[in-house]
Amino acid sequence: MMAQLTGNCNEMEAKMSRPVQAQRLEGLDKNVWVEFVKLAATYPTVNLGQGFPDFSPPDFVKEAFVKAVSGENAMLHQYTRVFGHPALVTILARFFGKLLGQDIDPLTNVMVTVGAYEALFCCFQALVDSGDEVIIIEPYFDCYEPMVKMAGGTPVFIPLRPKTPAPGKLMSSGDWQLDPAELASKFTRRTKAIVLNSPNNPLGKVFSKKEMEIIADLCVKHDVLCFSDEVYEWLVYDGKKHIRIASLPGMWDRTITIGSAGKTFSATGWKVGWMFGPDHLVKHLRTVHQNCVYHCPTAAQEAVAQGFQREFEHYGKPESYFVQLPQELQQKRDRLVQSLLAVGMKPIIPEGTYFLIADLSDFKAEVPNLPDCEEPYDSRFIKWMIKNKGLAAIPVSAFYSTAQKRNFDHLIRFCFVKEEATLKAAEDILQQWKLKKTGP
Ligand code: PMP
Repeated sequence: MMAQLTGNCNEMEAKMSRPVQAQRLEGLDKNVWVEFVKLAATYPTVNLGQGFPDFSPPDFVKEAFVKAVSGENAMLHQYTRVFGHPALVTILARFFGKLLGQDIDPLTNVMVTVGAYEALFCCFQALVDSGDEVIIIEPYFDCYEPMVKMAGGTPVFIPLRPKTPAPGKLMSSGDWQLDPAELASKFTRRTKAIVLNSPNNPLGKVFSKKEMEIIADLCVKHDVLCFSDEVYEWLVYDGKKHIRIASLPGMWDRTITIGSAGKTFSATGWKVGWMFGPDHLVKHLRTVHQNCVYHCPTAAQEAVAQGFQREFEHYGKPESYFVQLPQELQQKRDRLVQSLLAVGMKPIIPEGTYFLIADLSDFKAEVPNLPDCEEPYDSRFIKWMIKNKGLAAIPVSAFYSTAQKRNFDHLIRFCFVKEEATLKAAEDILQQWKLKKTGP
């Protein structure tokens, strides 16, 4: 069937007298998730690749979803308000208004989207024009680059630069920092926006208040917008604090803050996301949303609204999911750190997120480097690891611009937000690997 479909498509293309692909898609067809998710599904693997929990969301949101679909209210099966289900935008405005110390109007400052992905897409489509530059901090969640390009903009990259950790200490994501002078040099007359992702995927870096102030001062000085992707806002470890850049002086008026129920309530498949910001920006995102997705599934929004209502009531208390989840995940992180250290991969300890990056430099003997090979080393290494060890991860070079890929292709990203049994299975694979390498 598949072959038949492909055959028909090729036939169609052959019949067309002009190119079928819109020019703005040129060079954007490759996608790391499509490639590695497929590979992990093809071989029997312990999948620490794509970022999703393999455990259930908390009971209170599952029960709210069940109630939404099986309860009396028939309207929860129908279209809801185009820019967000009233119950959800109301509680999001209340919740984040309190955290930011900012009046947030549910109807004009908040919009619900199909996951954080759609919120990001709306930002670029609504606010980036042809010729505009958008600053992206490397390593970055890979979709920022194609989204800027699809809007006609030009991505301008600035790397986080790793410092050597103190002797005897493991490297931390906090050792990766921006050079303030280099950052300042990236702001030009054409700069329209900067994308900030804290906690950062894939590194797990949680930007400090001081680092955010440097970014905020540059945004204000150069009249630049900030798209702040905060999907991992609750997943911060070791007592670190998540700072919301929109709360810094002069930033509310120029920031769109993006969140995801997928990460917030461990329900990535529900695809409920949101954004909030000043109406003079959000109104343009509404234009994009009403002309593509229109509105989002009602029952899932109702369940997320109930979840936030519950968290509002328990905010900061030991029974809050936003307090409990990071505590559990920190233990999972530490467990994977130990397993990786035991086999000789050097982990970079993440201060937040679902992810942990490990350095493969000592593994070059297992999969020899081929200097002339076009494919980055980490990508080849993971393909080998999936096929030969049954363990899946994601190559970190996928989170870098073309110019930098080669400089960071000795790193791979693991997701540790997994059941005990999954982490144990990964541990066993690593243990066997170590025995093979060093002998019993
Ligand atoms: N931003 C970042 C940094 C992410 O890691 C992800 C998901 N991996 C998203 C946005 C997209 O989130 P959602 O699943 O809610 O669309």
